[in-house]
Amino acid sequence: MGCFSVIAILSGGVGGARLAAGFAEVAREEVTIIVNTADDEEFYGLHVSPDVDTVLYTLSGMGDWERGWGIGGDTFRCNEMLGRLGLENWFKIGDADLAMSLYRSLMLRQGHRLTEVVERARRALGVKARILPMSDDRVRTMVVTESAVLPFQQYFVKLRCEPKVLGVVFDGIEGARPTEEVLEALKTAEVIVIAPSNPVVSIGPILSLRGVRELIRKSGAERLAVSPIIGGKTVKGPADRMLAALGIEPTAVGVYKLYSDIIDIMVLDTEDSKLAPLIEGDGKRCIVTSTLMHNRDEAARLARTILDHVGRI
Ligand code: GDP
Ligand code: CA
Repeated sequence: MGCFSVIAILSGGVGGARLAAGFAEVAREEVTIIVNTADDEEFYGLHVSPDVDTVLYTLSGMGDWERGWGIGGDTFRCNEMLGRLGLENWFKIGDADLAMSLYRSLMLRQGHRLTEVVERARRALGVKARILPMSDDRVRTMVVTESAVLPFQQYFVKLRCEPKVLGVVFDGIEGARPTEEVLEALKTAEVIVIAPSNPVVSIGPILSLRGVRELIRKSGAERLAVSPIIGGKTVKGPADRMLAALGIEPTAVGVYKLYSDIIDIMVLDTEDSKLAPLIEGDGKRCIVTSTLMHNRDEAARLARTILDHVGRI
């Protein structure tokens, strides 16, 4: 295998990790996953990278498929102790999960790039697919609500997505660069997949990095997106409410419109089959299939269906 990737997947946490696990299982090609880092955060002096870790854990088989974050069977003794000591402990990091953040923080302090740290970790955990943080530079999603501008994890975890969203800002995005590895992966990819991740806060930051959207727009790859919205609702998380708050219809068509300049194929759930003509009327192809991934087998089936359509299996 060369140092090029044939399938590149743009991903956030749970939705992206699930589909990426499906591709990693069925694809003959090299799979490279480009992961959002705009919801990274510092806790207790440690660099926590939730989406990258969700992808790492899901692909290594250590993850909790149902919960969608953390390590299966993890304990939370450190988290509880931090609470007893009087620290805020609303961000639940399990004990083994914490080891990953300790490792990452140590390696970063030793001068390694985030990309290198993730590369070492995925090899150590036996993950064959490449996992690329979107950038080695600091980008932070800030959620603008009626009462305050909140760091993403405060909105998402501490306040359980309850405040009404007025907008989002990717702090640091202008100065941040996609890594050379990300640019190379996109240039060499023959299939580019936008995973069913939150279009606003998971895919949004990746596409906002300088040059990335343009590169995908001009790419000769088969480019497709899988809708994270089924029947007007998210499977998990606040994407439907966020889209509505930003004036985008919370449907697969609304998601399609966000990507219409950079994709050839939209993957819709069977439940949304009636929406296909709207997208086909715009000159695009649709794949209508079951897109719910309750387990690894369903994820593999979805990946295989997609690869069958683009003729690479
Ligand atoms: P986060 O970073 O962990 O919040 O996760 P992502 O942004 O990657 O994914 C969140 C999105 O994944 C939500 O909008 C969900 O609707 C979507 N999602 C989760 N599981 C599935 C699934 O099995 N199928 C589809 N189509 N979407 C899913
Ligand atoms: Ca995330």
